[in-house]
Amino acid sequence: MTALRHPVRRLLAPLVVVLAVAGCAGTTDADNSTNRQPESRQTDGPGDSDSSGQMKDDISSAVKSIETYWTSFFEAQGGQFSPVKDVFPYDSPSDGNCGGEAFAQNNAFFCPSGDFIAYDEIFLSREYRDIGDAFVYYLFGHEYAHAEQAALGISHRLTIQHELQADCMAGAYLGDSVRAGSLEIEDGDIDELLDSLALVGDQPGVPWFAEGAHGSGEQRTQAFAAGYQGTSAGGSSLNTCFQTF
Ligand SMILES: [Zn+2]
Repeated sequence: MTALRHPVRRLLAPLVVVLAVAGCAGTTDADNSTNRQPESRQTDGPGDSDSSGQMKDDISSAVKSIETYWTSFFEAQGGQFSPVKDVFPYDSPSDGNCGGEAFAQNNAFFCPSGDFIAYDEIFLSREYRDIGDAFVYYLFGHEYAHAEQAALGISHRLTIQHELQADCMAGAYLGDSVRAGSLEIEDGDIDELLDSLALVGDQPGVPWFAEGAHGSGEQRTQAFAAGYQGTSAGGSSLNTCFQTF
């Protein structure tokens, strides 16, 4: 996925088609983590520095394009966007806490009390390697959506509603940015996005009303797609997410 200046509306079609057949539920709990047992928490070996350098570049491009998106959204509402205080990696739970709760492994999250987004670097490196760069745009689009839910005073009775709305808002950010020509979808990115959503889906059997439920891979994919496609009425696709969830 790349930030550039060419509208590529035509690339939306594959997403619509693929969704018709998507259905595999993923495995997860906490915010955007995965239950997949990492083969090891080994940090990058020699020669992996290129990919971690590339990953860091992609993270800063993604965060920059997300903040640009939200800046224009708030301006259009006559309001002002304020970015989160910090976006940073951690390697172990002892690296910090959010409201007294230690950082979790294999996780990424927005911390309201500290106004920051933090991510387990080893977890992200592994998924970046296994899925691709689109995972970064989806993940930070989702976590930043939580920051904007807080900024807009949005809360939900059920965790699953809050999480699916954040997936929808991540889809809106990507869809609107592609339509506006500030992001380009490259070959394979649609599959990477679908793999990302399948990866973070709840384990089969997690009740939708459970505290911490996020939705199955299929539910998360449909929420993301609703935001990505937006409305024919025009305007920000975020409106779809605010009306639907
Ligand atoms: Zn979330």
